[in-house]
Amino acid sequence: MEVQFKDAKQGDMKEIICVICPNSCKLQVFKDKKGEVQVEGYGCTRGIQYGEDEYTAPKRTLITTVKIDGGELPVLPVRSKVAIPKEKLFKAMEVANHVTAKAPIKMGDVVIPNLLGLGVEVIASRSMGKKE
Ligand code: SF4
Repeated sequence: MEVQFKDAKQGDMKEIICVICPNSCKLQVFKDKKGEVQVEGYGCTRGIQYGEDEYTAPKRTLITTVKIDGGELPVLPVRSKVAIPKEKLFKAMEVANHVTAKAPIKMGDVVIPNLLGLGVEVIASRSMGKKE
């Protein structure tokens, strides 16, 4: 998925591994002379969108844990419902570090309703009962 810069006739080219499926196609993504993003090396058309997105605005799913009050375990695995801009991940982790959920909780329950004002929910990745 990451990313090397190379000299290319068309301008800066990035080599990006497509992670949509196990084929792991090596994409070459660059801007052409008109400034339009071009993708080569894809094995199917899903790689085109993936390459364009990774080139222009890479996103990642937040996967982390939060503390949980009264739970069977001390922490609760959580994830963002959709991917967020990659450059926001560090701040998102900081937010999650300051959140404490309350047991019991069901998988899919919203733990953070509006992460960093992005309109993205962070949800529980598993259910967790109360500590007995
Ligand atoms: S480009 Fe298509 S075939 Fe290649 S890894 Fe991506 S999804 Fe799979």
